[in-house]
Amino acid sequence: MKVYFVGAGPGDPELLTVKGQRLLTEADVIIYAGSLVNPALLKLAKPGCSIYNSASMTLEEVIAVTRDAMAAGRMVVRLHTGDPSIYGAIREQMDELDRLNIEYCVVPGVSSFLAAAAALKKEYTLPDVSQTVIITRGAGRTEVPEKEQLRSLAAHRATMCIFLSVQMIDEVVRELLEGYTPATPVAVVEKASWPEERVVSGTLADIAGKVADAGITKTAMIVVGDVLDGDYARSRLYHPEFSHGYRSGSGASD
Ligand code: SAH
Repeated sequence: MKVYFVGAGPGDPELLTVKGQRLLTEADVIIYAGSLVNPALLKLAKPGCSIYNSASMTLEEVIAVTRDAMAAGRMVVRLHTGDPSIYGAIREQMDELDRLNIEYCVVPGVSSFLAAAAALKKEYTLPDVSQTVIITRGAGRTEVPEKEQLRSLAAHRATMCIFLSVQMIDEVVRELLEGYTPATPVAVVEKASWPEERVVSGTLADIAGKVADAGITKTAMIVVGDVLDGDYARSRLYHPEFSHGYRSGSGASD
């Protein structure tokens, strides 16, 4: 008997993995992150499954429920929003389970920064524009190390996906302007993949006002970078002049 950490995906219940779906139907106990996990996923639970909302629990309580379930031979699914490896507070749970010699495994999920790209119909990595995606957040109750302040990351002018920060968009913009130009495109995606999904697009110069007008204060992804707008080079992967292991080219090779 094991504990399964499962990524629930960004909201749309159909964006759960097939494996995550199977585990939810088999679970004896489900502990879900109530603030963001779509409650529709809980309909997959079998009759008699015990369901806990971790939003009102401490780490100690989550671990106690998990330990008791394991002792009783009951299978536990710990359901995290998006992918558990991104701001999931999964590490401290895994460390506790290690201490208790409880076996676990992790089933990844579709993170909200990927659902945001899908909502925007954009590619985060474009030749000649950016080949790097930075995942970060503004400092809140959780500090961000000094070496990773937004203004330092902005110096790279890479594509940036900023979690947990829309409520401080003014400050985020101020920091980003230390590296990006005011004309740099920005998109804010609220509740990507949910029926109430909203997109607000602009530039660093005007996005803060637009977000305030729209009244977006939580569950939103801030995406910044020139990949959102403007020119790029064609990919070499699909270019007729370049060959690679799976396709011989008609012209020069790289
Ligand atoms: N593990 C999650 C992130 C948890 S932190 C993941 O991989 O997506 C919570 C933050 O994620 C929110 O503040 C918001 O910035 C972002 N987020 C979660 N779901 C979202 C969604 N459907 N649309 C946009 N942003 C979302």
